Amino acid sequence: MNASALYSISYGLYVISAAGDGAINGQIANTVFQVTSEPKTIAVSINKQNFTHGLIRASGLFSVSVLTKDAPMPLIGLFGFRSGRDVAKFEKAEYFTAPGDVPVLRESCCGYLLCRVMQEIDVATHTVFIGEVTDADVFGKAEPMTYAYYHEVKKGTAPKSAPTYRENAAEVAAPKSGLYRCAVCGYVYDPAVGDPAHGVAPGTAFEALPADWKCPVCFAGKDRFVQV
Ligand code: FE
Repeated sequence: MNASALYSISYGLYVISAAGDGAINGQIANTVFQVTSEPKTIAVSINKQNFTHGLIRASGLFSVSVLTKDAPMPLIGLFGFRSGRDVAKFEKAEYFTAPGDVPVLRESCCGYLLCRVMQEIDVATHTVFIGEVTDADVFGKAEPMTYAYYHEVKKGTAPKSAPTYRENAAEVAAPKSGLYRCAVCGYVYDPAVGDPAHGVAPGTAFEALPADWKCPVCFAGKDRFVQV
């Protein structure tokens, strides 16, 4: 079997959010698709270990925010590489609250869907939630992010909890040598670019970064980086 055929499947990139037991959270997912048009239903695959999984089961509601191409990597890192058990993600992002207390990420998104769970399908490590769309809107004309764009242009990878995780994706995302790559998320530190968002000027060598500098995508420590 040539399993690399799986990599030719196209996806978008979304933030799936839910509320339950007094908490709200959201997480990145690429596995969203429309199932039927009447009624309007969609499916999303969520890892059973993710915090959002429990919130969806508890409430029976979730939202899908469609990320745009210009979504910054720190935002993707916050929702994609950190757990809602450790960080209050929505304290760091612009959102609004839909009926049922469901949070909807607003920033860097071009639209959203609000869904009520109709059915769950147990698939080994993941649950596929089938949701009826109860509300939806578009925010503008910005282009949605595709999973291919995320990998090729944004140099992003998938965490181990993602259904589309690839063992060697970090190498794929770091074709140049002489750089440092985050072993957790695949972000590549390029000294020519630096990390201006966190006060690191272009031209700063990786070795010269402060000891408490963290990966701008997943917030892993400097010790998790390896030379490419
Ligand atoms: Fe990282």
